[in-house]
Amino acid sequence: MCGFLPKGLTFSLLSCHLLSSSITQLIIYPNFSMDLKNLSPAMASQLTSMVEDYITSSRKKYAPQAVPLADAQRSAMQPFFSLAVLDSARLCVLRGTRVSNPSMYTMARMMGIRNLPDFADMAAITFVDMIVSHQEFTAALIFHELVHVVQYSQMGVKEFATRYVNGFIQGGSYEQLPLETHAYALGDRFSQNASQVFSVDDEVRQWREADKL
Ligand SMILES: [Zn+2]
Repeated sequence: MCGFLPKGLTFSLLSCHLLSSSITQLIIYPNFSMDLKNLSPAMASQLTSMVEDYITSSRKKYAPQAVPLADAQRSAMQPFFSLAVLDSARLCVLRGTRVSNPSMYTMARMMGIRNLPDFADMAAITFVDMIVSHQEFTAALIFHELVHVVQYSQMGVKEFATRYVNGFIQGGSYEQLPLETHAYALGDRFSQNASQVFSVDDEVRQWREADKL
């Protein structure tokens, strides 16, 4: 997935070994919908590497406009997050523009992957340690996105992208992705009682070790 290419170029980027009959069918018959249970590992892995590219290129794109957490934001988050996470995270509020959907959406939809989230409708999106928001940051929003920063830091971009894509291939919606449900669950705990301190690093590690993410 490379988010900044004209849509028509999507298929030309596919490496030759993936121009299998399945891909050819997608090009010739735009309404063809593949049974996702039969999605080949090669195609799933191609989607994953496109997601990975999109995350990496988006992180670079927004870096020049991003700033570290302000002192008040930092002290509100400090009981829950490690210094490494608080030091590395960057915030970027977009005004007059919104994050575009990745160009691989066209291919993913043709393959029958439904319920892809519209990034322009989201409050914020996190690319590794770069939190890009369509609105001013609240404590709850920063908390949720910092959980994703922790997920990225423990997994790396490749594993994060793999889990993200697998969630959709297995038929889940954005709201059902374990990466999201965990961030929402921890965010709820924070919002309900910010004096009940816990370590997000530990929580993410436990879920990952239990293979719940
Ligand atoms: Zn989220």
